[in-house]
Amino acid sequence: MRLLLVTPERQLLDTDIEEVYAPGVLGQFGVLPEHVNFLTALGTGELRYRTKGADHYVAVSGGILEVLDDLVTVLADTAEFAAEIDVARARQAEERLKHALARTAADAPESADLQAALVRASNRQAVGARAGRTGAAAH
Ligand code: ATP
Repeated sequence: MRLLLVTPERQLLDTDIEEVYAPGVLGQFGVLPEHVNFLTALGTGELRYRTKGADHYVAVSGGILEVLDDLVTVLADTAEFAAEIDVARARQAEERLKHALARTAADAPESADLQAALVRASNRQAVGARAGRTGAAAH
């Protein structure tokens, strides 16, 4: 199975994989070989893929995932490998966003964007904490 992962900014992956788990808008789901073809929207969360028996982690937010025969294509709004996440930046973003939200009415037009950015910042911290822990998958 092949995984192609791209954002509007760059291509992160074009690689052979054994499986991939992704954050769908309705929850985390897995794609194994022989999966039926389908298309789904992605939320913000952790994308995990296994290649040569080792798991790797990517923070993603938004976009779509398509399974077409042997090819899984992920077009994400943003994506970062765990090791390239600047966790301090994400922590600062979270603090800033929490303060901004405290000063923003829940029904204000910018509230949803602030909430979404807060979820991205929180997710980056969680996935960033995976950095260096890539290794043989547990069976
Ligand atoms: P910040 O407020 O920290 O700048 P942001 O919410 O503006 O974050 P996004 O709009 O989600 O960031 O993403 C903008 C770009 O910055 C994307 O290319 C994303 O991959 C990258 N990015 C954002 N935060 C981080 C981070 N903590 N570490 C590495 N790359 C990041």
